[in-house]
Amino acid sequence: MQYYSLQHTAPRVDFRTATIQGQAPDGGLYFPESIPQLPASILNNLAGLSREALAYEVIRPFVGDTIPEDELRRIVAETIDFPIPLKQVYDGVYSLELFHGPTLAFKDIGARFMSRCLGYFARDEKQPITVLVATSGDTGGAVASGFHNVEGVRVVILYPSGKVSSVQEKQLTTFGDNIHALEVDGNFDDCQQLVKRAFKDTELTSQLFLTSANSINVARWLPQQFYYFFALQQWNEKQPPAFSVPSGNFGNICAGMMAWKAGLPVSHFIAACNANDVVPRFLETGDYEPRKAIPTISNAMDVGDPSNFVRILELFGKDRNQLKTMLSSYRTSDQRTRELIRSMYQQHAYLPDPHGAVGFDALADWIRQHPGQKGIVLETAHPIKFLDVVEPVIGQPVPVPASIEETLTKTKNATQIAADYSKLKDYLVYSNPF
Ligand SMILES: *Cc1c(COP(=O)(O)O)cnc(C)c1O
Repeated sequence: MQYYSLQHTAPRVDFRTATIQGQAPDGGLYFPESIPQLPASILNNLAGLSREALAYEVIRPFVGDTIPEDELRRIVAETIDFPIPLKQVYDGVYSLELFHGPTLAFKDIGARFMSRCLGYFARDEKQPITVLVATSGDTGGAVASGFHNVEGVRVVILYPSGKVSSVQEKQLTTFGDNIHALEVDGNFDDCQQLVKRAFKDTELTSQLFLTSANSINVARWLPQQFYYFFALQQWNEKQPPAFSVPSGNFGNICAGMMAWKAGLPVSHFIAACNANDVVPRFLETGDYEPRKAIPTISNAMDVGDPSNFVRILELFGKDRNQLKTMLSSYRTSDQRTRELIRSMYQQHAYLPDPHGAVGFDALADWIRQHPGQKGIVLETAHPIKFLDVVEPVIGQPVPVPASIEETLTKTKNATQIAADYSKLKDYLVYSNPF
């Protein structure tokens, strides 16, 4: 499988190069040159395959011959080494719980897969790889956990001081070993600017093998197809489900659409958005107008110019009318999100996180317009990650899952730096632990 740049001026590359580069040299996102179709023998027998066997079949064509079969089977098995249950919340509405991984959010799946692929590719590189990433919260933890103790790779994570939740900060700063947390005196944009400058600094990139781990990387994007297949393995309704996906950069929902193109039965996709509503507006008006992100309580979705949306357009030949046959999009306010968290907890004994709540609201909106349809919400994070929002709404403490109790007792270990590029550069060059 070859990948082309959506800017169309960079050479085609294989999965290995696309993973190591992250973004094409012309600034475009990589896109597979064809969409592999799964054979009917698999599609008609989803529940008959193990999760590992199914995930392997899904990803194999995308990886091509860049990773041998036994290695890829191991990588896939390690990636999905936790349950992903489908739970009925009320009649016709289900929750696909993607938060049972180590950092309690769906980004674990993409980050675990990518880290293991990069670890495999690093074996053949003469130089160790530095993964440099800026985070507003969830990405950093998933990347830190995914790359912890991966040989030949060190990870440097920049996060804005005082602007991530307490649980998120612990997840970023307590791994140690090859994971280095930089607490930046600034906001998320400052962190992102610093990272962008590092990648453009040829003096630095000639000394260090730098790569990023952001959500546009094909090795993070493509394995997100796995759990759409796992959902169908557990689906006992007669008609295919609609999927409602809480969306920020639109990588998660775009992976679902790839799964559908590969043959997975899906009735419709619903992009659930908060006040950051560029995509709902685009579907209504045809005008795509990026904006500055508006802060909300579902902050992992505070994106004003979703980077993966170009991939969705590519899947539908850039035709908005075609796209609308398969995609709807709704926006939900913070007030409505809080109301929904409360009412789902009280009426259905189910506690969504703020992102999931936006997803449940969007699915309910769509079902009102399509009576009798049934659907699945991708519950993207555990409510404990957003306890500052959730606890006041339900007026009760959220029980801490056993899997993170230990992390919460560990001591934070971060290096404070000013939002000043020369400081970051010094750190990267002189603290080089290899
Ligand atoms: C990252 C994130 C999202 C948004 O996912 P995209 O793939 O960027 O659309 C939604 N919910 C949570 C909890 C997240 O961490």
